[in-house]
Amino acid sequence: EWIDLGEVLENSLRKTALKARQKGLLINRHMEGDLPLVYADGLRMEQIFINLIDNAVRYTEAGSIQIQLKRIEPNQLMVTVADTGMGISESELPHIFERFYRVEKSRSREYGGSGLGLAIVKNLVELQGGTITVSSQEGLGTCFEMRFPTESDNQTGEGSA
Ligand code: ATP
Ligand code: MG
Repeated sequence: EWIDLGEVLENSLRKTALKARQKGLLINRHMEGDLPLVYADGLRMEQIFINLIDNAVRYTEAGSIQIQLKRIEPNQLMVTVADTGMGISESELPHIFERFYRVEKSRSREYGGSGLGLAIVKNLVELQGGTITVSSQEGLGTCFEMRFPTESDNQTGEGSA
């Protein structure tokens, strides 16, 4: 189905807002004008957003989380989820999408989690024709960037003749 990722983001934020508020973290969203629709499954997309936001909140002690939806020519929608948290070291960064991989053993006890979230996210992103990359600096923060194919400019997607 053709879906509006802005709507999916709103639903995801409703489900993650409480935890963020409890930690005193602000979540800001940036959406530019008319966003193109994406051909994807709404529930899977929500699962992707919720996992990334859950991580951003869990691994950030102070600051904010920035989520941006932006059209990228031609026919792509870029989604970034950036935080001002603890970051991930350069040596561990290549492994974070692996099943059960968690950064530093000490964190396991302190933050809970199974190490499956990002493996699932990567699978779901790719199932929907998207890509995901990550950049991070230890002590400064982390940014996940996804790209999804969208309707083309001369096509309106849902409901069009
Ligand atoms: P869960 O299965 O509950 O999501 P998890 O959060 O440990 O457990 P992943 O979401 O797969 O597992 O993340 C893997 C590891 O990558 C985490 O243990 C954490 O160390 C690191 N990580 C993920 N997201 C971030 C982030 N935004 N900032 C810092 N570290 C992160
Ligand atoms: Mg996680």
